[in-house]
Amino acid sequence: MTEVIDGKRVAEDVVSKVKALTSELSAKGATKPGLAVVIVGEDPASQVYVASKSRTAKECGFHSLQHTLPADTTEEQLLKIIGDLNADKSIHGILVQLPLPGHIDAGKVIQTIAPEKDVDGFHFINVGKLGTGELETAFVPCTPAGSMLLIERVRGKDLSGLNAVVVGRSNIVGKPMANLLLAANCTVTIAHSRTKDLPALARTADILVAAVGRPEMVKGDWVKPGATVIDVGINRIPAPEKGEGKSRLVGDVAYAEAAKVAGAVTPVPGGVGPMTIAMLMANTVASAYLAAGLKRPSF
Ligand code: NAP
Repeated sequence: MTEVIDGKRVAEDVVSKVKALTSELSAKGATKPGLAVVIVGEDPASQVYVASKSRTAKECGFHSLQHTLPADTTEEQLLKIIGDLNADKSIHGILVQLPLPGHIDAGKVIQTIAPEKDVDGFHFINVGKLGTGELETAFVPCTPAGSMLLIERVRGKDLSGLNAVVVGRSNIVGKPMANLLLAANCTVTIAHSRTKDLPALARTADILVAAVGRPEMVKGDWVKPGATVIDVGINRIPAPEKGEGKSRLVGDVAYAEAAKVAGAVTPVPGGVGPMTIAMLMANTVASAYLAAGLKRPSF
């Protein structure tokens, strides 16, 4: 029987734990976790993500702050806001919603966020900590961190001896995912658009992570029997069967085929997707614990 990994349920568990940790922090007399979300411009998808992040932050009992800035905000104005948030002791996490308008250097903005408030895990200091295995103080990007939690639910924390293949080498998903799997003692291969014979490579994987952005690219016969398959992809494709102009979401894995072979698989939607916001909350509460000089909670 293939296990369908219920990301929604795991994400709810994470959020419940964040709520409890927030209450404990208040009981200790420490400042409650503060998350600032900054959005520039009117991109509708970004607006939806940001609203959802701010809503979950409030649900967790956080001090939740949102800066909604017009599209013509200058880089200097944005950097000033980041500087103020860096200095604000009531804020433990700063998230700048990407993409930013073209006239703003996103790299410069991200590197201006104080590393200890970089709950997205994109600052070079956090990237370096993850790369060198300093996981006690690193902030790990939320999507791979959430994917790792799903893998642990199936396989446990020590993945010694298992082969992992990560398809995709982006800085926000593929590379940090590979580093997390390496830290958990997997033998890791990172595949990308120039990889030769990807199906054969994928078939060596006990843990197969797809983070590509190509609808249903990973076929059932790419999957090793019993493998754990984590589908990070979110792709909207036309669904004429639902009516004219309708669409539906699919992952990077051909789910129906893969589910016949895999030991465990994440669905899309309802797999990795819900984990991303939950891990943002987990990183923010962890930042508040570290700022209060307390031991970092684990998830
Ligand atoms: P990305 O930056 O576009 O990276 C895609 C990666 O896939 C690249 O490394 C690329 O290789 C590789 N690739 C492209 N075509 C390939 C092919 N035919 N064979 C093998 N590899 C191929 O994407 P991303 O930001 O990592 O996101 C990946 C997917 O995850 C997207 O569907 C995105 O929507 C989804 N996502 C979901 C969440 C979530 O919350 N669940 C969060 C972030 C992203 P090269 O480097 O050689 O070009």
